[in-house]
Amino acid sequence: MSADLYPVSRLAAVQAATARAGLDALLLTPGPDLRYVSGYEALPLERLTCLVVPAAGESFMMVPRLELPAAQASPASRLGVEFVAWDETDDPYTLVADRLGRVARVGLADRMWAMASLRFRAAMPATDQVLAGSVLRELRMRKSAAEVAALREAGAAIDAVHLQVPGLLKAGRTEREVGRDIHDAILAAGHSTVDFVIVASGPNGASPHHEVSDRVIQTGEPVVVDIGGQLHNGYCSDSTRTYCVGEPPAEFAAYYEVLRRAQQAACEAVRPGVTCESVDAAAREVIAEAGYGDYFIHRTGHGIGIETHEEPYIVSGNTELMEPGFAFSVEPGIYLAGRHGARIEDILVCTETGGERLNNTSRELVIV
Ligand code: ZN
Ligand code: ZN
Ligand code: ZN
Repeated sequence: MSADLYPVSRLAAVQAATARAGLDALLLTPGPDLRYVSGYEALPLERLTCLVVPAAGESFMMVPRLELPAAQASPASRLGVEFVAWDETDDPYTLVADRLGRVARVGLADRMWAMASLRFRAAMPATDQVLAGSVLRELRMRKSAAEVAALREAGAAIDAVHLQVPGLLKAGRTEREVGRDIHDAILAAGHSTVDFVIVASGPNGASPHHEVSDRVIQTGEPVVVDIGGQLHNGYCSDSTRTYCVGEPPAEFAAYYEVLRRAQQAACEAVRPGVTCESVDAAAREVIAEAGYGDYFIHRTGHGIGIETHEEPYIVSGNTELMEPGFAFSVEPGIYLAGRHGARIEDILVCTETGGERLNNTSRELVIV
């Protein structure tokens, strides 16, 4: 873990944002929000671990006594917050409520288990609960230089895996066999986890979130390969390329070229001050003009950082204005049910002058 990725100054920024949002405190249980604020990658367990960040005053971390050494050894110890250990017979929810005092509104970590959120509700019946994401989103969307560098490293790592795919895709192999090799390559490229491996051959390519199956890949079939994981630095990769085993069907080659132009148009639309939805529209217009509008059935992209899918979403209706440091996917697709499909996906970061792609393997149709 790099200290730059989780600066100690972030805690004060989170407190200020909590105050601005009119919340009294954030209650952060293990998950991405806790990691973002403290760098502590705690295991989600039935025993409560919770960083309590009040809008003003001292933060504290409620931890099970047996987790205390792990918490103290974690990057959270740099924050200078008090660790409050609770014992097996204590009710940690009541302990948090008592320490916090009477508060009107708290933000709960977006990925808090329902088990914990309901027990907090019972311990603080007069307190409104909202999502901590409503406070943290504005911080998490604006990546620091260190975060952009971490995403750039993740992008290069997944690119190195895509460069190996042509050697793995062969007629006669199953999607699962190819997927297992890609899984190993993702780990070998420096990822600590493999989050998804999509190898979607022929008609399976028309299902955007198909993973792998025992289907045998045939000559002449397009194959959508969408892969990603969490790099050792804690930031995520996600890139899609569409390959063809042998010569593609003519109809496929025609719409693949439309897709390539659409993805390029969306990437070129990225710059500070434009809306997120305008980037979606840039891709959608090219596809619709070519007559494939009904076959592009999902949003153009999603933000990425310590989670694969986070804000900002590149979707119609999102009028959020792009700023330097926004990082997100641009991944239009065209899907012909029962036949085949294609998707091209790069991660981009918005810079002062435009979009910088963090994935840089060829977007031409790769024939293997
Ligand atoms: Zn997806
Ligand atoms: Zn993807
Ligand atoms: Zn994606």
